[in-house]
Amino acid sequence: MNQSSIVPETDERAALREAVTGLVGRYGHDYFVARARAHEEPTALWKELGANGFLGVHLPERYGGGGGTLGDFSVVVEAASAAGCPLLMTVISPAICGTILARHASDEMNRRWLTGIADGSTKMAFAITEPDAGSNSHEITTTAHRDDSTQHADRGWRLSGTKYWTSGVDEADAILVVARSGTAATGGKRRPLSLFVVPTDAPGLSYQPIDAALVQPEQQFTVWFDDVLLGPEALIGDDGNGLRQVFSGLNPERITAASISNGISLYALEKAATYANQRAVWKGVPIGAHQGVAHPLAEAYIGVAQARLMAARAAELFDAGADAAEASNIAKFAAADASLRALDQAMQTHGGNGLSLEYGLADLWFLARMLKTAPVSREMVLNFVAQHSLGLPSSY
Ligand SMILES: Cc1cc2nc3c(=O)[nH]c(=O)nc-3n(C[C@H](O)[C@H](O)[C@H](O)COP(=O)(O)OP(=O)(O)OC[C@H]3O[C@@H](n4cnc5c(N)ncnc54)[C@H](O)[C@@H]3O)c2cc1C
Repeated sequence: MNQSSIVPETDERAALREAVTGLVGRYGHDYFVARARAHEEPTALWKELGANGFLGVHLPERYGGGGGTLGDFSVVVEAASAAGCPLLMTVISPAICGTILARHASDEMNRRWLTGIADGSTKMAFAITEPDAGSNSHEITTTAHRDDSTQHADRGWRLSGTKYWTSGVDEADAILVVARSGTAATGGKRRPLSLFVVPTDAPGLSYQPIDAALVQPEQQFTVWFDDVLLGPEALIGDDGNGLRQVFSGLNPERITAASISNGISLYALEKAATYANQRAVWKGVPIGAHQGVAHPLAEAYIGVAQARLMAARAAELFDAGADAAEASNIAKFAAADASLRALDQAMQTHGGNGLSLEYGLADLWFLARMLKTAPVSREMVLNFVAQHSLGLPSSY
């Protein structure tokens, strides 16, 4: 199956896809599953992706990145996923955190953190969700107060609160935390949001894994910040400007999450087409000759082609500096649904073997299913489209 035929790609993009496919293909899905089952980081793969410039392909050259676009990075994420290694951490560290830092952090902070994110030597987790604030991030209560233990003008912060479902904390060097800042708000309004980079070894920070069904190297955690003392340098950009800043990471999050889903689809359909060409249970005729097998696979392929085009369009808009919110939301929605259909049909094509772990499909089920709920749920995308695309009233 030709991965790039539907989405028009420059020679450079096609070469990038080929290089990532070759590199990740040497590790393959068995490597991914072995790391996942052992709850181990895919360190060798991550390091090699970083050393070859793939993790920072979209980040500024000034900080060791490739100076390319999010469209380039989406190709990296999709190709890795299509080669059997859907790495959730690519969405979190280089896509969300990398983009936010590149756009809003100081030169000093970017030298400290972004260079490592670009070459893969540093990982950053992202914590916005809280036990009582998932879809509705206006309810966030994690708060950073100015540190009153010193009157120095350059005071730091004390961070307290709980984050939930934070991915990859155990393998990350730091967490980009969305918190309310201690600056008093007027008129009964909530305190504004600010963004902080919190090293994972900071005293007062603790975390516990959530027992999740997903087979993937990254685990999810509940994270507690118990009066964590942070220096003034922990604040990204301006105090109270966190809402605007975090938004710059949300479209890259949706676009690269779509790329993971699309990669899973390509991986599953490739396996299904191979199997359907080889498996014969009636008079030596391959099962793929039966339209009951071929048509659902063809229909799944059409859904995936549409989702991939939408993701490419969303990345194109983002890279052009245009409003990419509608396209990014639609891309994420379409890709998650299409990958569940493609994976389900690939499993169905394999008959009983679809459920056998040996065939490398069933273990992807919960990861593909998760992308219907996170990083933004299907319903919140529908709310966005209803309100912003159709002009319908909000119910909340
Ligand atoms: C594997 C995994 C990894 C994750 N990684 C991270 C991470 O690294 N960092 C992070 O911050 N978060 C992470 N999350 C959290 C994820 O972003 C949230 O689970 C997601 O945003 C949904 O929030 P919630 O779970 O609180 O659901 P809720 O907000 O409680 O919603 C429950 C259900 O109600 C629906 N719903 C809620 N409000 C409305 C409405 N107004 N209209 C219609 N339907 C509505 C939702 O769509 C959902 O189906 C992760 C989650 C998972 C499962």
